Amino acid sequence: MTDPADSTDPGGATGTTSLTTEFERVELPLKTPFTISRGTQHTADNVVVRIEDGEHVGVGAAAPSRHYGETAATVEAVLPDLLAAVEAVGDPLALDAVDARLDRVVERNPAAKAAVRIACCDLAAKRLDVPLYRLLGLDGSRTVTSSFTVGIDDPERMAEKTRDAVDAGYSVLKTKLGTDDDEARLAAVREAAPDARLRVDANEAWTPREAVRNCAWLAEYDVEFCEQPVPADHPEGLRYVYERSAVPIAADESCVTLADVPRIADACDIANVKLMKCGGPRQAVELFHAARAHGLETMLGCMIETNAAIAASVHLAPLLDYADLDGSLLLDSDPYDGVPMPGGDIDLSTVDRPGTGARRS
Ligand SMILES: [Mg+2]
Repeated sequence: MTDPADSTDPGGATGTTSLTTEFERVELPLKTPFTISRGTQHTADNVVVRIEDGEHVGVGAAAPSRHYGETAATVEAVLPDLLAAVEAVGDPLALDAVDARLDRVVERNPAAKAAVRIACCDLAAKRLDVPLYRLLGLDGSRTVTSSFTVGIDDPERMAEKTRDAVDAGYSVLKTKLGTDDDEARLAAVREAAPDARLRVDANEAWTPREAVRNCAWLAEYDVEFCEQPVPADHPEGLRYVYERSAVPIAADESCVTLADVPRIADACDIANVKLMKCGGPRQAVELFHAARAHGLETMLGCMIETNAAIAASVHLAPLLDYADLDGSLLLDSDPYDGVPMPGGDIDLSTVDRPGTGARRS
């Protein structure tokens, strides 16, 4: 412990302190099964992390994705070592030092690291009594509207889900495609939401030639952009589609870490970042700046996540061209409340609590 008499910070906001940490797996049932081109999900296993300094509790969560090699079990396996590293640093504001230590503990495991880093950012902001976006120096008046996602189903059911979303006030929708009859599905969605801004996510389902053909009719349905039309392990395919597509192309599975940004720069229009892919809020900020430097637009997405994680993403809205932060809305119930997003609208000026704003519901 630093002797308070030696501290240059009269408020005691900085310096080492004794931290305690814990984590807990939460199994979150979905409202309805959620289907994308790769399969159907009925529940989401998240792992909630808490870091306490004796006065404040920082909260974060991991929403691991098998697609990126993580499960709740792999998160739980590395969290003891990651949290020991946070305790060893012992300074909730020393986020650079924490980041470096975490990267030395394990090389990858981005969802596990994201949980820890969200909790650290939440705790740091709570110690300074500011919302997370203020800790990051972001302009809270810059705003964006999140999309609401309609999963794959038969066309009638997709139209019904779309009407429900429109009735609930959502003006920006994203629909999953990658089926044997994508155009019928998209037509049903568009008919149910004629005025909505509409995006499409194929989750790697198409070949490059198919994608170019499909993007031609996506344009006829006034689709704003198409996300990840082709497999991520086919970078030339993504470029082929980008150079010929009638709608802008977003890279999601092709855009995981900072090192991917220069690789996708000439193969898409939009970089879709997720905390669970890149490993934390400040890592996402790095990706956004790199994306801009490479002439890309920015998007922030999510997995199916509790608000204990999503709330942190919402604070990055000022850096975004597009937001897709509906992960908690797909849950039957969420143990945490986050930042309210009525109709998908993000308004950080309404955030009236320090940290990410996540708290037990
Ligand atoms: Mg996607």
